Amino acid sequence: MTIQDPNTYKLLTPGPLTTSATVREEMLVDRCTWDKDYKEMTQEVRASLLELAHANAEHYTTVLMQGSGTFGVESVLSSIPGEKDCVLVLVNGAYTERMCSILSYHHITFKRMDFAWDSIPDAKQVEQFLEQNPDVTMVAMVHSETTTGILNDIEAVGKVVKAAGKLFIVDAMSSFGGVDINVPKIGIDFLISSANKCIQGVPGFSFIIARIEALEASKGNARSLSLDLYDQWHVMEKDGGKWRFTSPTHVVAAFHKAIAELEQEGGIAVRHARYAQCNKMLREGMKALGFDAYIDPTHQGPIITTFFYPENANFTFAGMYDYLKSHGYVIYPGKLTERDTFRLGNIGEIYEEDVKRVLKLFQEYLNEVNHA
Ligand SMILES: *Cc1c(COP(=O)(O)O)cnc(C)c1O
Repeated sequence: MTIQDPNTYKLLTPGPLTTSATVREEMLVDRCTWDKDYKEMTQEVRASLLELAHANAEHYTTVLMQGSGTFGVESVLSSIPGEKDCVLVLVNGAYTERMCSILSYHHITFKRMDFAWDSIPDAKQVEQFLEQNPDVTMVAMVHSETTTGILNDIEAVGKVVKAAGKLFIVDAMSSFGGVDINVPKIGIDFLISSANKCIQGVPGFSFIIARIEALEASKGNARSLSLDLYDQWHVMEKDGGKWRFTSPTHVVAAFHKAIAELEQEGGIAVRHARYAQCNKMLREGMKALGFDAYIDPTHQGPIITTFFYPENANFTFAGMYDYLKSHGYVIYPGKLTERDTFRLGNIGEIYEEDVKRVLKLFQEYLNEVNHA
């Protein structure tokens, strides 16, 4: 059954994003948290996520955690390090800055390596840093930095982190499901993502793909009751898909459907191709209109692009925002401090026809201000 889509605009934002009407339709049913059907739904979601991560259930597990993506990141960072651990954070955007804040809040020992926000953390430099700082026991980074749109090289960094025998924590919030990530091969011990990004669900929970041995070793380290990753996992395992506290039932049902739709689309490879094609069309079309991208094409990811304001005296972000919104698309402000930028996400129910329409709207807006 298809239902009439009541949305009046599509989101060019990296999550919450535009979901399918059929995903939203799943939320029309109220479900019981301790009922067998619902627990099975949770278990299916956990198993599907492991499969998408190329991980087997013998060595890896999925923990679902209430809250937005940051709750998942905080759950990992506040539950995994013990008193003697030291976390190295590879900072090249707002989301790794946020990791440092989380570690500070919990008084966890950490070090940071800073990289320019338009460049990726260099594996060679990380290798040297680890040699010189043997007190570091864990390394944390972001895969797709949604602040800028850059796609960091988790494979190269993973190699040096593993060679040094450290734990590897990756925030793959805005890439998992849209970019193929082989968790065991890269050597990721904890990967964090959330319901409302590339799997194309609605907001309400995050999920953690964890290496079981590393998770078990963290027992008793949690600094917060509600974000205790080990205990959340323990209850879900022991009770066959039971969430520790009230679970976002409607969100989980929508997510369950979203995973099925990812499979129907052809899996991660096909979704990635759609995202990459839309992103390329968008960047090329915007460039032709005079909008330059912040990240160069070699490191630009397929999820979101940061554009500089054009050199046009009549241009205003607010004016452009209103014009696009009144014609069916919502754009996203920038997050850089040194220059004025805005961002266009192309994940969610966004297709080539949308990109063509959006480019035409930017053209129309520019024509309008140029003749003002
Ligand atoms: C979306 C996102 C998060 C989490 O943000 P929330 O607002 O808490 O959902 C964390 N890291 C990255 C890279 C993200 O894109």
